[in-house]
Amino acid sequence: MEAVTTPLAAPSPVPLDLGLYRELQRYGARDVSACFSCGTCTASCPLSQTDATFPRRIIRYAQLGMKDAVLSSKELWACYQCGTCAETCPTRADPSEFMAATRRYAIASYDRTRIARTMYTQPVLATVLAVVVALLFAAFMYAAHGPQSGETLAVFEFIPGHLIHDMGIAVMAIVVLAGLAGIATMARRIGRREDVGWGDVLGSRAALARSARAAWSAVGRESLGQAQFRAECDTGQEATPWYRRRGLVHALTVWGFLGLLAATVLDYGLDILGIKATGTPVPVWYPVRLLGTLAGIALVYGTSVLAIDRYRAANRAVTRSTTADWMLLGLLWVTGVTGFVLELALYLPGAPAWGYWMFLLHVAVAMELVLLAPFMKLAHAVYRPVALFYVALAKEAKP
Ligand code: SF4
Ligand code: SF4
Repeated sequence: MEAVTTPLAAPSPVPLDLGLYRELQRYGARDVSACFSCGTCTASCPLSQTDATFPRRIIRYAQLGMKDAVLSSKELWACYQCGTCAETCPTRADPSEFMAATRRYAIASYDRTRIARTMYTQPVLATVLAVVVALLFAAFMYAAHGPQSGETLAVFEFIPGHLIHDMGIAVMAIVVLAGLAGIATMARRIGRREDVGWGDVLGSRAALARSARAAWSAVGRESLGQAQFRAECDTGQEATPWYRRRGLVHALTVWGFLGLLAATVLDYGLDILGIKATGTPVPVWYPVRLLGTLAGIALVYGTSVLAIDRYRAANRAVTRSTTADWMLLGLLWVTGVTGFVLELALYLPGAPAWGYWMFLLHVAVAMELVLLAPFMKLAHAVYRPVALFYVALAKEAKP
């Protein structure tokens, strides 16, 4: 009788990009060709307790040119750049900075417009682009400007409130579209790799309950509460005063930015509801104004410390800075500081003329900051929760 043999299925080829790790160097990674997968970084990484291959597996993907594996790796976004692994690596491959550079590369790859790529890899062009965008915003508003008059600083007569409102809506629409397109690309890649489809997320009551727990872990605990970041990121910083520790400074920056965004949206909400017209003078303890002031203090403090540490390379976690990193810090800082100077001008007698120009600068920079958000590091604020959702979902399936 003739033997029946089952032919072995040919493995599907994995597309390789042999220039990948050199490409990652353009985004700030050091030369990781020296990494010999010794595992020292794994031993020191606080995230590797249940994964004996993190973070070196992602370095290996880069060495082998496995672009798709890199871009569909949810763990890439779990790393919070604490810098511990960089201190222990015997070959100075700087895995911490490698992970940060790979996230920049991922942001650029998820963005179809190629703006993010330009921001990261062409610093001169990116700087020119940023200046031109800010000037265009300022020129557009200035073209419609009204009088500088009255006893008090009437900033919304100088730049009409409805113009800022309409520009804000247009900018937000672009940001939401760019953000959603990037999130969809990322979720499709990770979902395919993890074999997680719509049915696994929403297909049954049990799936819905799992997804709700994973969403709470990703958004509530980790992104808004910064739970692991605060718990692990300050490890080894015992000699640093509490007010300079990275966990606190990062949290103040995040909450400062979100607080200012919330104050702006609430102010428009009160206007729409007819409770308070935008620009009406209110005392400093008025809730929305108080929220804006406290958020501004947090933002300016957080970004100032981050910038000083980056400049001095005083933070073990940050060993390299790209132009885009500086630009983001600069835009956040200028938005916060111009907001405070404007506030000061509003209280000064005689409606100082420079207050109007400060207002113009503040709005132009704030608009630019929001417009460029999906193309810079700020984008990790949305990509990270999506990846952490998949991380939490995997833990739900395999506790
Ligand atoms: S990055 Fe450094 S510590 Fe990590 S596996 Fe490679 S050589 Fe070892
Ligand atoms: S930077 Fe910190 S969290 Fe990221 S891989 Fe290194 S040790 Fe782990």
